[in-house]
Order: sequence, then C-alpha cells, then structure tokens
Amino acid sequence: MSGILVVGEVQDGAIAPVSGELLAAARKLAGEGVGGGISLAVMGDDLSAISAADAPGADRVILISHPALKDGGTGGYDAPVLALAAIYESTSPDVILFAKTDFGAVTGPRLAFKLGAPVAQDCIDLALDSDTGRVVVTRPVFGGNALAVYGFDGDGPQVATIRPGAFDAVEGEGTGTVEQFDVDDVMGGVRTVLVETVIQESEGVRLEDADIIISGGRGLGGPEPFDQLHELANILGGAVGASRAACDAGWVDHSYQIGLTGKSVKPSLYLSIGISGASQHMAGLSGARNIVAINKDGDANIFKAARFGVVGDWEKVLPAFMATVRDLAG
Ligand SMILES: Cc1cc2nc3c(=O)[nH]c(=O)nc-3n(C[C@H](O)[C@H](O)[C@H](O)COP(=O)(O)OP(=O)(O)OC[C@H]3O[C@@H](n4cnc5c(N)ncnc54)[C@H](O)[C@@H]3O)c2cc1C
Repeated sequence: MSGILVVGEVQDGAIAPVSGELLAAARKLAGEGVGGGISLAVMGDDLSAISAADAPGADRVILISHPALKDGGTGGYDAPVLALAAIYESTSPDVILFAKTDFGAVTGPRLAFKLGAPVAQDCIDLALDSDTGRVVVTRPVFGGNALAVYGFDGDGPQVATIRPGAFDAVEGEGTGTVEQFDVDDVMGGVRTVLVETVIQESEGVRLEDADIIISGGRGLGGPEPFDQLHELANILGGAVGASRAACDAGWVDHSYQIGLTGKSVKPSLYLSIGISGASQHMAGLSGARNIVAINKDGDANIFKAARFGVVGDWEKVLPAFMATVRDLAG
C-alpha cells in the first residue's frame, strides 16, 4: 500500500480550485515521507477539457468518465463511492484526501465505510508521524475553540477531508501523466440517480473563491443594509457573506453563511460588520488573512482576531467608508 489519492472536484468542466489545495496537502505529506506518488482522481461525464497542466502537484491524473458521474459525481453518492473503491482496489493508496465540501464531506466517510477505513473530517493540517509511519491530523474541536491532533489507528488506508482554505493551492503548470480509468464494470451497483439539479443563481465572485468578503451580522438590524454590502462588494470585486444569525433571520440566504456550519473562506480582506465573532463564526475564517471589524461593542470577540477595527455604529461608519471607496474606484 503506498501513494496518496487526492479526490479532485470538477467545476464548469475544469478542475476546481479546491483540488489544488488538496494537492498542496498531499505534497506536504509526500515531503515528509509518504512515498508512492500523488494521484489526482477526477470524475465526471465529460472530462475532455481536463489536462495534466491543470493539476500542478499531481504525479498522475486519473480521469474517470461515466454518465453516472455527471456533475463531478455530485448527483448520487453511490457512483463516486463505487468508482473510488475500484480505484482503491487497483492502486491501494495509503492516504485518500477529500475536500470538506458538500461532496467530500459525504463521499469521504462513505468511501471510508466501504473500505473499512478510519476517517478524519474537517482537518486543517496533516503530518506524518515518523515513529508510526501513520498520518496525524489537526482539526478544530469544541466549536472551533480548540485544536486537537488525532492519529489513524491500524495499518489500512487513511481517509481525511480537508477544510477548504486550510492549504494554499499548488501553483504553476502540472507535468504529471494522464490516464483513463474504466468503471463500467462497477456502475451496475449504482442505486441512486440524479433526477434534477437546481442551480441557485448568484452573481459575481463565489464566496469560497473571493479575495475580498464583506460580511454582515445581526447588528445590521434587517435585510435592507445588505444592499449596501452588495454595492461595496461589487465596487471591490468581492463577495457578500453573513453570520448564521443574519441567515437564520431570513435576511439573506443560508448560502451566505460563514462558519462552522457554513462556508470556510480564505479572503485577503474580510470586512465584518455587526458580527460579534462567536467561535462558530470564526471557525470559517481560519484562512482569512486580514479581518477588519466594525462593531459598536469594543469588547466584541471579533476584535481579538481583527487586524483593524472600528468601534462604532455601522450606520455612521459605513457611509463615509463607502464614499471614500467610491471616490478611489473613480
Ligand atoms: C452548533 C452551532 C453551529 C453554529 N454555526 C455557526 C456558523 O456556521 N456561522 C455563524 O456565524 N454562527 C454559527 N453559530 C451561531 C453563533 O454561535 C452565533 O450565535 C452567531 O454567529 C451570532 O451572529 P452575529 O454575530 O451576527 O450576532 P450577535 O452575536 O447577536 O452579534 C451582533 C453584533 O453586532 C453588534 N452590533 C449591534 N448593533 C450594531 C451597530 N449598529 N453597529 C455596529 N455593530 C453593531 C453587536 O455589538 C454584536 O457584537 C452556530 C452555533 C452553534 C451552536
């Protein structure tokens, strides 16, 4: 058993950015001594646009094309699990990495169950324990208030899901080999099929990919101020996010939610407005480089993490800030 299998994701027919982050995690493990090379498995019904150049950090790219794997295998869970189990039978990787996305958080544990393997969810770091030769993972616990380090028991495959934003994607152009992997024989076991995909329309940058995020919380007092946040995000080329309190209140959709039970983000700038900074919210911000907070409570938890902060009422602070940004943007 050797090697690292990275389960990539597909977005609009191309390798999704989160796959590059997984490859960075895999490279870290390889650098610490996990041998056997790094394989990136990519699933879909049409992978004709994908080439090794799009997968820097991968020694080989395994393309698994099948109609049951439509939309990158997100349509039904049986198909990707069966396909990946077949890859496992063929290549016996020591470590299997998923992103902790909607797809990976469900498919990773299912594959682990099928293989009888342990799984570590929502990891933010990985390392090789030189004494045991097994992987150790770091993951947030107690609502993000502490970090715990876990080791994998036994000697079988080790499955982990990695929090998006925990690693910087490998950059450059890939030079690995590309091979097709035929899964026709195992797809007879598929019991669930994709009936319909409902795409939620959104404009601009995806929250997960945004370099600038303007985020609002309960302190905004209602849905209307989010219009200003959207305007600011548009000027700055960013995206709008929210705390769970704002989403639960129905002010914005739950797809805006950042945190433990929402999205993990990794912007260079995170502007938080009327958000207290509860640990469950901050759990989604471990990859944020610069947090700037506007909050009228100087003791709010958000200020512990903020690089810059304004203690004040957002209704007084934000208009002047927006006017300056509009001026600078011309
Ligand atoms: C299991 C679990 C999972 C959770 N997951 C998440 C998650 O994924 N994401 C998440 O966000 N939360 C999550 N929560 C909820 C979390 O604990 C907090 O309740 C939530 O983050 C609070 O949102 P908030 O900061 O917007 O609201 P509040 O905590 O009510 O804070 C509002 C802030 O606005 C400030 N404010 C008020 N008026 C103004 C004004 N005029 N100008 C400036 N500042 C003002 C206040 O001083 C306050 O700090 C979770 C909770 C649990 C138990």
